[in-house]
Amino acid sequence: MNKTIIVSNRLPLQVKLKENNELEIIPSVGGLATGMKSVHAEGNGIWIGWSGLTEEELTDDLKDRVDNAIAAEKCATVQLSQNDIDNYYFGFSNRTLWPLFHYFMEYTEFEKDFWESYKKVNEKFAEVVLENLDEGDTVWVHDYQLLLLPQMIKDKKPNTSIGFFLHIPYPSYEIFRTFPWREEVLHGMLGSDLIGFHTYDYERHFLSSVKRILRLEVKFNEIVYYDRIIKVDSFPMGIDYKKFYDAAENHMQQEQNERSELQQRLDDHLQADEETKLILSIDRMDYTKGIPNRIRAYEYFLNKYPQFKEKVRLIMLAVPSRSNVPQYQLLKKETDELVGRINGHFATVSWTPIWYFYRSMPFENLIDLYTSSDVAMITPVRDGMNLVAKEYIATRTNKDGVLILSEMAGAAKEMNEALVVNPNNFEELADAMKQALEMPMDEQKRRNAILQERLARYSIEKWATEFMKSLKATQNLGDVIVSKRMSSDVETEMIHSFKKAEQKLLLLDYDGTLTGFQNNPQDASPDAELFELIDKLNTLENADVVIISGRDKATFTNWFGNHDYNLITDHGVWLRRKHKDWEALERLKTDWMVNIRPILESFVDRTPGTFIEEKQYSLAWHYRKADPELAQIRTIELNTVLTSLISNNDLTVLNGNKVMEIKSSSVNKGRAASRLLSEKNYDFTFAIGDDWTDEYMFDELPKDAYTVKVGFVKTKAKYYVKSNNEVRNLLEKFLN
Ligand code: UDP
Repeated sequence: MNKTIIVSNRLPLQVKLKENNELEIIPSVGGLATGMKSVHAEGNGIWIGWSGLTEEELTDDLKDRVDNAIAAEKCATVQLSQNDIDNYYFGFSNRTLWPLFHYFMEYTEFEKDFWESYKKVNEKFAEVVLENLDEGDTVWVHDYQLLLLPQMIKDKKPNTSIGFFLHIPYPSYEIFRTFPWREEVLHGMLGSDLIGFHTYDYERHFLSSVKRILRLEVKFNEIVYYDRIIKVDSFPMGIDYKKFYDAAENHMQQEQNERSELQQRLDDHLQADEETKLILSIDRMDYTKGIPNRIRAYEYFLNKYPQFKEKVRLIMLAVPSRSNVPQYQLLKKETDELVGRINGHFATVSWTPIWYFYRSMPFENLIDLYTSSDVAMITPVRDGMNLVAKEYIATRTNKDGVLILSEMAGAAKEMNEALVVNPNNFEELADAMKQALEMPMDEQKRRNAILQERLARYSIEKWATEFMKSLKATQNLGDVIVSKRMSSDVETEMIHSFKKAEQKLLLLDYDGTLTGFQNNPQDASPDAELFELIDKLNTLENADVVIISGRDKATFTNWFGNHDYNLITDHGVWLRRKHKDWEALERLKTDWMVNIRPILESFVDRTPGTFIEEKQYSLAWHYRKADPELAQIRTIELNTVLTSLISNNDLTVLNGNKVMEIKSSSVNKGRAASRLLSEKNYDFTFAIGDDWTDEYMFDELPKDAYTVKVGFVKTKAKYYVKSNNEVRNLLEKFLN
């Protein structure tokens, strides 16, 4: 039975060595572990990750015991050394990717050693995944520590269905472009078939990076990547709603003597005065969470609305996190000082404005805090999702309570009924605190009813099943492509008929087929290897090898003038046969150019990175180097502008690969190919090309012709190859 392999940096368990030297495995109860429960439980599902113990800590004897204990939990470990953890985890993950993806550029360290370790550790993960992977299995990779893993798996096992989910924000292209290893990381992620984010904003930032940095074709939320289509979508992660709701209900029914010590202290405070209210804030101690800002805003609030002094208290739980990273130490110091200053300044004998805890709390105490607080103030400056906000709402079984939520948290996108604030605007924050503290009960209930309904419906289980459903559906994405991959069987059959045939025609497109694309058309001149290949093909008996291109005669004369090749240029205007002079296949007018050129020039002026190429019989507007989104808008505009002009002049616009070309409608590669076909009795025809303009040629050739498209797009060709890197190898086959 096929299984799903889940991969994350940490396994959903903790390994403890007890005093009697026995091992204890404590399963995680966190959100992700709960969400993945059903995926993990299905079939022989397995979870791969680091156990939390370094290689140095695992003696030989202990290693086997830990491995066995972990295997019993349907998990497998990736062995990491202390050095790996320092460089890959604390280094690249937490000092490079984390700050960069959260817009803290000033904290981002671009260290080559961190990067090298990150690659190495991703390889280690890949090894363990591949050891456990069987044909037909699905892999779901989690989070920013493993961005390179999808491609590493895909390279080795191309048929494996791979999903990737990023749990943190994906930054705007303007931030991501500063990253020295941006291409590698994007290619790493694109090993997946489905890439998931919490929100649509992260999704569009990612697609924008893919378009601008890798220059890939993106259609809505699908990326064409060689011969695969990758889907990108948003799946806002939920919580285990029932767990929090039920815990809160049980908590409400507790007798006085069953209550925790914390709850009793909270009760003392709440019972002291009817009007007393608690504002809660819970986060990991992380600079993305906006903790100092929140404290300062609270101070501002107390000054702006002094009537609340002695009436409200901020309960702040900050959970220690990554405390060996310098910025986290500084943050802790800053927070301690701020709390001290404000408490020192405002406190009275009976009131301290801030209760501050720097530790983590067990689940029961979290429920105490959630259920006792009238307001939750969650104001990160940047946060992928924020589950605390959702958990607070889930525990409000009476539907009272107000959530103040930063619009910079992913959760704000789906929690519109909260008081959504900009965490940097103290005025707004202070007013939101006042509004929250004074909000009428019926309004609180109305807002929370809507919030709760959504949280209950889109729970963490639902999130996981939706993702898996989408991943499954990606298997059919390629079906829109009608051509078949050029397989070795087809190759063998083709070479067989080639050898048998008496008159053979090979039509070879130039740009994007015989050579790769260059930003500048002049740079794509033929290399020595290509000359050698064409020279050899040219010696084949009874075979006409023709380079057929949209390039102009002058360029081809310059490049191939000294070689005895058959050439067709200008999309079929000029033909040069071996040993002969150029002959015109078409007689064309060019007087229209003086009218069209100024229009193209105005587009060049307004679209940086574009330029005009003037050929003998056509004008081409190239936009390969322009911003892809701007270029998309401009091509639509230009098409509209040209439509009325071209119809009167017998012209057509060819929308090629990042180029729009205006030329006479009576010329195309198809007509030129037909002309050649009519001259001899060819019993073998082969044509290969990558561009839209090659479709004319595919269309005109006889039914039994071997037509091959370069790239994975809709085509009239019978077969396709993945990229132009495969073309030369394919042509070599004719020589054997
Ligand atoms: N949490 C916890 N113990 C604590 C405080 C918080 O287990 O003492 C949990 C909390 O219930 C929530 C998670 O930590 O599920 C924090 O998730 P969130 O998305 O809010 O922030 P992150 O830490 O992932 O950035």
